[in-house]
This record gives sequence, structure tokens and C-alpha cells, in this order.
Amino acid sequence: MRIDGIGIMPIEMPLHDKDWAFALATVSSARGYAIRLSSGGVHGYGYAPAIPHMGSTFEGLPIELARFAPLIKEFDPRDIEGLLQKLDRSLHGAPQAKAAIECAAHDLVARAFGTPLWGLLGGKRTERVPVIRILALKPPDEMAAKAEELFREGYQYFKIKVHGDIHEDVARVKAIRERVGEDAHLTIDANQSYSPKEAILAIEQMARYRVDLFEQPVHRFDLKGLAMVTRESPALIEADEAAGTLEEIAVIVKDRLADAVSLKIPKLGGLRNARAAARLCATYGVKYRVGAHVGTRLLNAHGLHLAVSCPEIDYACELGEFARMDGDPFTGLEVENGHVELPKDNGCGVQPIHHSWQVI
Ligand SMILES: [Mg+2]
Repeated sequence: MRIDGIGIMPIEMPLHDKDWAFALATVSSARGYAIRLSSGGVHGYGYAPAIPHMGSTFEGLPIELARFAPLIKEFDPRDIEGLLQKLDRSLHGAPQAKAAIECAAHDLVARAFGTPLWGLLGGKRTERVPVIRILALKPPDEMAAKAEELFREGYQYFKIKVHGDIHEDVARVKAIRERVGEDAHLTIDANQSYSPKEAILAIEQMARYRVDLFEQPVHRFDLKGLAMVTRESPALIEADEAAGTLEEIAVIVKDRLADAVSLKIPKLGGLRNARAAARLCATYGVKYRVGAHVGTRLLNAHGLHLAVSCPEIDYACELGEFARMDGDPFTGLEVENGHVELPKDNGCGVQPIHHSWQVI
């Protein structure tokens, strides 16, 4: 088996909400590049989201992908470890582009073998995964109204974006809890916006509104601060930006700097690293789940196959953000009653609905 064709396609998905904000940025569209690897007429697909805080931008991704293309042309896509080694030796970092290629290789092999992707990842533990929807940073009453709208659509898990102002952030949690009732599950994501002591204070005040999990309270490099918040707070503390690489996750779980880790295929450079991170977390008794895969259904399909293959995930995953975007060139995955269900087709199970591939 040899990779005999490589194509890329820019994807821009406008958001329904043009002022979608979190503590690190305001965005009006989700952008990135899909890659298609071909072998003997079979195609596999992967996606690199343009997310600057993961390392790569929309402008930089095609340059990274073009650098990698000649290295993987004629390469056997079944040799995923060999492929990753080639990419890592060529360029440090670039996790989103590496992840796109690695996911496309997995997808290509799965489609060629006639198996769903989970068949290459160690099996599936479930068919359906509950979805957490992310509430963008806005005044408390607007966030609460959005939460209520989503709750009526069947969502039961929410992630509340906060930005480091304790008074306002507690008001957000209070307003949302009052609107969605006692049955909904609430989580918080501060995207690094608190100092450790502010975070401890904020979590103490939010705890009365029953918060299941508090994500990345402090700066990504403030590991002592993260450990302090984890030790002093009643809530489950989850590392996201601090858990940006397999090496960082190894340190976090070994020294128990957080209670949980958010796994994302693009930040970790692919499915194999994400599975390795899951295994590390399980070994040290640290919880993990699949975090936000922002963009096309293609990326979320890969995230879903990862999630169903991981036996220790016992919470909702962030695999439905495509529902707040238009213009997805891939189809075959939908959120129904607050859940995503494994597609029936082989590979990752989604299909492109239009083709404007640029051969590289
Ligand atoms: Mg996060």
C-alpha cells in the first residue's frame, strides 16, 4: 500500500454567532485545512484546524502541509509510527498539520481494510457519546438564555466560558444554573485567566451552583499554581492548555498536578499520541475526556472514534461545536438529543460533499 495522491482543501465555516468570544480571542469563523491521502483510488481524510494558541495559523498550515507532502508521498500509510517519525524529524511542533496527516492515514487504512476507524484504535466501548456545548463569553443573562435554548434542544452538558473577573463569572454560573435547572451538568473553562488564589476563591463561590469540572484555571506554564488549585479546590480541576503535548501530560499525571486532562487530536499531533495520553492518564488514575474539536464534522468524527475507543471516559465530550457553524464540506455526523452517534460507514464515517482539492 502506497500513498499515491495528496490534496488539501481550505475550509472556512462561518459561525452563527459572529461575536463568539472566550478568554483568549473573539472569532467569527472556524478555519483550517482538510487533507486527502489517496491510495489505489481509496481516499482518507484529516483536518488541521487553524488555532493560534495550539501553534499554527490559517496562513501557516498550507506551508507546513506542503513541507510534509514529499515526505509521505509513496509512503505506506499502514506504517503510522514511521510516518510520524518522518514528520517529527522534519519539523518540531506543527501538531495540527501532523494530526491531519496522521488522521488521514488512519482513515485511509480503515477505509481500505473495510472497517470503521475504531477497529484500528482498540475497539469501541459505546456507540453514543453525550455532547457538551460551549457557551461563549457574554453577559450572564445572554449566556443563560443560550443555555436554556440548548437545553430545550436536548443538551444536558454545558461548558461556561469565563474570563477571570470573579464577580461576573460567578454571576454567569448562577444565571445559567437558574435557567437550566438542577439536572443539567455545568463545567467551567477559564482559559488560563485566573491567578491560583483567585481561582480557588472563584471555585469556592461557584461550588454552590454545582460545577462538575473547572478547566485550565491558571496560565499554562504555572504548574505550581495548577497544583495548588487542584489541592485546595472542591471541584475537579482539568488541564487543557497546560496539557498541550504528550510530554506535558506525562508530567501532569505523574505529579498529579490536575485531576483531569482534556485530550484533543490537533494539539497532541494525532490519534496515536491521544491514545497514548489516555493510557498515561489511566495508569496514574487521572481522568480524561475528549475536549473541543472545533470545526468540521470530519475532525469531530475522528474525535468520536477516539472517545468510543477509550474505556475510562465517563463524562460528556466536546464533539458537537459544528452545530453552531455553516458551510461544512463534510456530512455524516449530527447531534441528536444531545448525543453524537458513531457513523455506520467505514473509516471515520463522514464523507466530503464537494471537492476542491489542490494537489500538493
Ligand atoms: Mg479549554
